[in-house]
Amino acid sequence: MANKNSPEEEYFARIEAEKRERLARQLDNERAREEADALKAAHYMHCGKCGQKMMTTVFKGVEIEVCPGCGAVLLDPGELEQLAGDDQSSLFHNLAELFGMSEDQEAP
Ligand SMILES: [Zn+2]
Repeated sequence: MANKNSPEEEYFARIEAEKRERLARQLDNERAREEADALKAAHYMHCGKCGQKMMTTVFKGVEIEVCPGCGAVLLDPGELEQLAGDDQSSLFHNLAELFGMSEDQEAP
């Protein structure tokens, strides 16, 4: 014979299950945030290629990060456009276009 719960028991079981699910989701969010914080703390201002600490330098009036180990360059959002300036034929403009950051689109 099947053990059938009363409507009250089912109601409280559902409330309890929802509470457990909410708590699990909250713990997942906290864990994800902690992992993101730990990653940022470990990698902030470090080279993505060789892991050395990036050095800030000024290039053409823009503050950029350069790796003393391998020479990799890190640009913050908008810095590539700043370096590109108004020169539409420059390497920087082509790079900006490549990464989809260019405002204007050439006609096909
Ligand atoms: Zn490096």
